[in-house]
Amino acid sequence: MQTNLADFIKSTSEGQEADRILRTCVHCGFCLATCPTYQLLGDELDSPRGRIYLMKQMLEGAPVTEKTLAHLDRCLTCRACETTCPSGVQYGKLVDIGRHIAEEKIGRSPAARLQRKAMRAVLSESSRVMPLVKLGQLARPFLPGALRKNIPAYQSAGDWPAPRHARKMLVLAGCVQPSLAPNINTAAARVLDRLGISLVVASQAGCCGALSYHLNAQDEALDFMRRNIDAWLPYIDQGVEAIVMTASGCGVTVRDYGHYLRHDPAYAEKAKRISDLTRDVSEVVLAETDKLAQLVQATAKTSAGKVAVHTPCTLQHGQKLNGLLEKILAAAGLELTISPDRHLCCGSAGTYSILQKELSGRLLKNKVAALETGSPAQIVTANIGCLMHLQSGTGLPVRHWVELIDRLLA
Ligand code: SF4
Ligand code: SF4
Repeated sequence: MQTNLADFIKSTSEGQEADRILRTCVHCGFCLATCPTYQLLGDELDSPRGRIYLMKQMLEGAPVTEKTLAHLDRCLTCRACETTCPSGVQYGKLVDIGRHIAEEKIGRSPAARLQRKAMRAVLSESSRVMPLVKLGQLARPFLPGALRKNIPAYQSAGDWPAPRHARKMLVLAGCVQPSLAPNINTAAARVLDRLGISLVVASQAGCCGALSYHLNAQDEALDFMRRNIDAWLPYIDQGVEAIVMTASGCGVTVRDYGHYLRHDPAYAEKAKRISDLTRDVSEVVLAETDKLAQLVQATAKTSAGKVAVHTPCTLQHGQKLNGLLEKILAAAGLELTISPDRHLCCGSAGTYSILQKELSGRLLKNKVAALETGSPAQIVTANIGCLMHLQSGTGLPVRHWVELIDRLLA
C-alpha cells in the first residue's frame, strides 16, 4: 500500500511505525473472513482492511470523526486478522497507534473519560480490586441472577509449595486474578512443583500494563512495565530461568516489553531481556509432558469428563501458541471435544466486555454455543478475563486448564 503521511505524524516514531505497517498491507481482504466484528456487522469499516484504510486516511491528514473512533473502538484487538494475513501486517500495533491518534484528535466525552480513568485506577491495582470483589461476594447471594453471574464465588487458593527445587521460575501475580481466582497461580505452583520447578513471586511486581496501554494511557503503562522489570531483574540475576504467565492477556504484553520500551535508553535492553525470558505456563508444562503423564491419577481423569478447550486470542493470535493446551490435556489422558470457530474471540477482550456490551454479549453467546457443541462436562481456558466472561454465559464450570491438571495429579 502506498502512503503519504501528514506532517503532524510522519517524523514521529509512531508515524514511522504506522507507515511501515501500512505499507505491508496489499488490500487482499483475506483477513475479512476471520474478523469477528465483520462477521457480526457485515460492514467493511468494521473489518481489518476497512480499519486499515480509516487509519491510513487519518494519518494522511483526513478529518477524524466520531465515526472513525467508533469503528476503531469496535475492534477487539483479538488479532485473528494477523493470523490470517499472508503479508504479515502487524495490525495490533497499528490499531494501538490509530486509537491513540484518533482519541487525541477528537477526544472523548467527560463521562467516557471518567469511566476509562476509573477502570484504570481500580482494575490495575490488586489492593483496590480485592475489597470490591470481597464486597461483591458478600452481596452475591442477594443479587439477581444476571448480576450474580458476573461475580465469582469465593475461592480458596490452597497451598503454595515451599521452594525446594534447583529450577526456579518467577510468576506474575497480576492485578485482577489474585482476587477473582487465587487458585490459578497456586495450582500452577503445585503443578510445576510436581514437575521439578519451584515458582516464586516478586512482591514488587504488579499489573503488566496492558489495561492502561489499551485505554490510551501509554505513559502510565510504561511505568508499570518499568516497575515489573525492576522487580524481576534481581531474581533473574540470581538464576531464575523464566517469567511464567498464567494469564495469556498479560503474557502477550510482557512478551512485548522489549518493543514497548525500545526508545527508553535506561530500559530498552532490560525490557528485551524480560521479553526473551517470558513463557506462558503451557510452554513450560508442554516441555514436561512425559513426567506429567506419569503423575496423572486414572480415576481423576475419568471423573473430569469431556473437556472443551477455549484458547484465548492472546494465546493463539497474540503469542502464536496454538494447540498447546490440547497437547497437554491429551497427554494427561483427557477426552477433548471439538468446537467450531475456535479462532473467534469470546468477546471478553480486556475491557471490551464493559465498553462494548452489546457486541461482546453476541460474541459470548456464539462462543458458548460453539464450546458446548460436543456436550463437554467443563470448559477450560488460559486467561482470567475469558474465564470470567465465559462463566457469565454458561452453566458449565469454567476453569483455567492448569487448575484442571492440578486436580488430576496424585
Ligand atoms: S483485531 Fe480482531 S476485531 Fe480487530 S480487525 Fe483484527 S480480527 Fe477484526
Ligand atoms: S489480509 Fe493482510 S494484506 Fe490482506 S487486506 Fe488484510 S491486512 Fe491487508
